[in-house]
Amino acid sequence: MVEFRHVTKTYPRTHTHALKDVDFHIAKGEFVYVTGHSGAGKSTMLALMLRRIVATEGTVAVAGQDVARVPDSRLPMLRRHIGMIFQDHRLLGHLSAFENLTFTLRAVAARGNHEQRAMAVLRQVGLAHKRKAYPIELSLGEQQRVAIARAMVTDAPLLLADEPTGNLDPDTALEIMELLDDINLRGTTILLATHARDLVDSYKRRTLVLRNGELVRDDTRGGYSL
Ligand code: ADP
Repeated sequence: MVEFRHVTKTYPRTHTHALKDVDFHIAKGEFVYVTGHSGAGKSTMLALMLRRIVATEGTVAVAGQDVARVPDSRLPMLRRHIGMIFQDHRLLGHLSAFENLTFTLRAVAARGNHEQRAMAVLRQVGLAHKRKAYPIELSLGEQQRVAIARAMVTDAPLLLADEPTGNLDPDTALEIMELLDDINLRGTTILLATHARDLVDSYKRRTLVLRNGELVRDDTRGGYSL
């Protein structure tokens, strides 16, 4: 699903080596953490998968495609295959939970019945009863559930989550982790970037550890210990 082959990313203006010869492979259906201190290169890794930036050396492949070779005209297609979840939910404030989902479906010109699909996904994240609520009328945890629903609504086979529990209290963070687990069990590949040590330690799974741009550990058993 995701392959980094000897990927180096240097930001030329500041001569920052954000990633150095990073090499790993994530199979379809895996749930993998990417951890490391701030500045270790986690966001750079996600940006490369979305082709927001391109590697200085090496290749990045998503779903078998070398992303650097995807023509600009097909970039929306690539990004439709990748659902993004951020620390701040980034929902549209003037749209209800339901409308945030149908808006996304319209934006990518998804096939099928948008209303039915939006309701099915809201049900899956346990928020069908809040379909008419605007983001401001939802708790932080509920907002993040809607954001997860939005990432899933286009049926993306890969979800990238960047500190998805960063703004949440421990109990709510746990609920979000359980939801992501559930989504993963249904077949979606998930890559979760975080520096939340407690999270990584309590839900042990494969963990990629970045340190100053180098992949210093790829541990199938998981756990934090930088
Ligand atoms: P993380 O997400 O782990 O905090 P980043 O990928 O954001 O790490 O950053 C890795 C390194 O690259 C840091 O030294 C950061 O300052 C640098 N960096 C990130 N984005 C840019 C950019 N657009 N231009 C120049 N340097 C950048």
